[in-house]
Amino acid sequence: MPKLAQRMGRAKPSAIMQIVEKTRQMKAAGREVISFSIGVPNFLPGPHVYAAAREALEHDSGQYGSNRGPDALLDAFLKHIGAAGLTGYQRKHCATGIGAKHILYNLAEALLDPGDEIVFPSPYWTTYADIAEIVGARATALPCPASQNYKLTPEQLDAALARGPKVFLFNNPSNPTGMVYSGEEIAAIADVVARHPDVWMICDDIYHRMVFSGQSYHNVLHFRPELADRVIFVDSLSKTYGMPGWRVGFMAGPESVAQALTTLNSNHITNVPEVVIAAAIAALSGPQDVPAAKVREFEAKRDQVLAALAQIPGVVCPKPEGAFYVFPDIACAFGRRHGDRVIASDVDFCAALLEAKGVACVPGSAFGEPRALRISYTCPDEQLTEGLKRIRAFFAELA
Ligand code: PLP
Repeated sequence: MPKLAQRMGRAKPSAIMQIVEKTRQMKAAGREVISFSIGVPNFLPGPHVYAAAREALEHDSGQYGSNRGPDALLDAFLKHIGAAGLTGYQRKHCATGIGAKHILYNLAEALLDPGDEIVFPSPYWTTYADIAEIVGARATALPCPASQNYKLTPEQLDAALARGPKVFLFNNPSNPTGMVYSGEEIAAIADVVARHPDVWMICDDIYHRMVFSGQSYHNVLHFRPELADRVIFVDSLSKTYGMPGWRVGFMAGPESVAQALTTLNSNHITNVPEVVIAAAIAALSGPQDVPAAKVREFEAKRDQVLAALAQIPGVVCPKPEGAFYVFPDIACAFGRRHGDRVIASDVDFCAALLEAKGVACVPGSAFGEPRALRISYTCPDEQLTEGLKRIRAFFAELA
């Protein structure tokens, strides 16, 4: 029998998707499960987005489209990132893809040869390590535990970049921690990157509009615009606009990188579909009231989750300032029992919680931090309240 390519031996199905699958099976078997697992925004875009898609259907060209993305979409994206203080880009600096995941995969293909090193802070979005493995790169996760607020320090970064990795991948606001770096912290990171001229920096800032009151979004380019020739900004419609299934992602960065992604697109996806493009332009350029209201709602939900966790002795939880995740350190449960189950790890904890209480969370080890678990809190209020009640009950029952 012929063999699959060696790289498929390195590819793993996403750990988050495994929890989602288990939840699906339990629901199919008639169990009522509250899902805090998958990172979906749980809202739909405004009616103008659907109207634009319908209108596009009426005038469908039926043709292949641009590999980079049509001018109208690139212009809408440029305006969108201009509002975040990312200026000086033209269409030739941008490319589009089937979600940010596809953009990140394309970037790995475009920037990393087999054996090259890519570094990123840990906890990290689980796909970073998986994509690096598929392209044969060496992924180095830089440990940033709860005791340092899950944030990378300039000293850690300096030491890592001194080893000469090809790519530094940075995610702000963070999935899974919800942490948002302050202006001061980003300025310090920008200074370190400036001292290491041979490293690319990818800024996966897809949650940049989901920052809560009292904080604001910063990018290294705000402090060091001269880094623009090696910083690549990655964005997506999925979370901000409630459009994860529409699959639209973007990048802005050096012309050579945007061209490389355009060439890769020409060899696989060809183009983002026409109807999706119309919806994307409407989302980026139309009224922003739905996304703005959702950020306020998520902030209130974040407060509710933190208040519930604060009542559990031993649980430590740095306060997230954005996105829609909370990432408590639950190591206080390790070595204890729930009924006849021993909780030796985050994976045991999540499995026992799911089976005993019907609450699905993702073990922190999926994100490189086995002391924690991720709660994605975008579900309706009644479910959130009930799920938190069950988590507290679960802890109270530990012996
Ligand atoms: N980057 C981060 C940090 C994410 O959390 C996600 C999705 O969960 C993505 C990228 C991928 O987003 P998209 O839906 O645009 O592929």
